[in-house]
Amino acid sequence: MTLRVAVVGGGAMGAATSWRLAKRGVDVVCFDRLSPPHAGGSSHGESRIIRTAYFEGAWYVPLLQEAFPLWRELEAISGRQILTMTGALMIGDASSEVVAGASASARKHGLDAEILDSEALRQRFPGHLVHDGDMAVLDRQAGVLNPEAAVAAMLAEVPQVVRDTEVKSISELRSRFDAVVVAAGPWTPELIEWIPLRVERQVHGWFSIARDADYFAPDRFPAFVRQSRDSGFMYGIPSLDGKTIKLGRHHDGETTTPQTIRRRVDEVDIDPLRLLAATYLRGVSGHVTRTLTCMYTNTPDGHFVVDFSPEDSRVIVISACSGHGFKFAPVIGDIAADLVCDGGTKRDISGFAASRFAASHVPGDDGDHD
Ligand SMILES: Cc1cc2nc3c(=O)[nH]c(=O)nc-3n(C[C@H](O)[C@H](O)[C@H](O)COP(=O)(O)OP(=O)(O)OC[C@H]3O[C@@H](n4cnc5c(N)ncnc54)[C@H](O)[C@@H]3O)c2cc1C
Repeated sequence: MTLRVAVVGGGAMGAATSWRLAKRGVDVVCFDRLSPPHAGGSSHGESRIIRTAYFEGAWYVPLLQEAFPLWRELEAISGRQILTMTGALMIGDASSEVVAGASASARKHGLDAEILDSEALRQRFPGHLVHDGDMAVLDRQAGVLNPEAAVAAMLAEVPQVVRDTEVKSISELRSRFDAVVVAAGPWTPELIEWIPLRVERQVHGWFSIARDADYFAPDRFPAFVRQSRDSGFMYGIPSLDGKTIKLGRHHDGETTTPQTIRRRVDEVDIDPLRLLAATYLRGVSGHVTRTLTCMYTNTPDGHFVVDFSPEDSRVIVISACSGHGFKFAPVIGDIAADLVCDGGTKRDISGFAASRFAASHVPGDDGDHD
């Protein structure tokens, strides 16, 4: 008999899950309170970085290596360009998380990556202001994804998408479907209490670049994540329009909810980004052409949750954000499809178990995947 599955949420994770379930012949219905792709959750803003030399943990690398062909598969079936390869630079000092973590991942998995000292960084990437002690990992298996195009393309593969319809009760939905996948992004805390999640407001802006700053073009300027002791994490996307570059801070945002988020972006939000641009980039002006707010849904350790509900093994919850989930969407969607169809997956997702947040959990029990 054909499985009937409801997916709550049609953002990156819900759209990907629905696509992968539909591909397996499951009778899937994807519900969204809004009409995705939309700018109300976490999957908007023209660009998302995808990279392989993963500073967040070498155990993510096999999943990332699966993600690239899946994004290409989506491009092939949709006829849309979703992934642009630009490479990625992780910049910091030798002991920074981004440099130490990315080089450890590159070493462990034999990735196509290169370590650049400050001189090489200065010479090869004139858009970066290089400070004493800076170095970088250049990850060649990296690029930029178009989130709106990706979500639209995934949902186009799903025969039943029910828009502008809020799911109020998982148990009610469960009474009508064989299984339910909850992928509600920053709304997850409204539906699920057993994962400790913190929703964080994030702001990014498009900054004008100097007329002669052609070194920000996507074929010359890799996407980057830069970490510094004084300023924390920032990221940047190469210039996709030849006029602006998108910049953001990774974390350091205020705690919020989808209902109460401050959508208006004020000078007080932009000033820290201006300071980062002036300190770390050459040829970027303080003039901002556009800004956006977005939400991170963070777990306490920054790793994802992809797991069965402790009360009902036919309810699966995905919280794959903590500010870095987008790139994984088709793999996470395929894993969720494994969990629904097979009751388990061959991929190593032990790091995504919700049980790590249980009160009795001993830190380090299952956290060491490297
Ligand atoms: C500013 C910013 C920059 C980022 N940069 C990167 C990056 O460079 N690389 C990267 O890999 N990741 C990045 N991320 C993270 C990535 O975008 C997220 O991991 C991803 O978008 C999460 O998708 P989601 O489907 O979980 O959430 P969402 O996209 O928010 O989707 C949740 C959906 O559920 C729907 N919904 C909620 N509640 C209900 C309900 N009760 N009934 C019906 N529908 C409901 C919502 O309407 C929404 O459409 C970034 C995130 C932000 C905010």
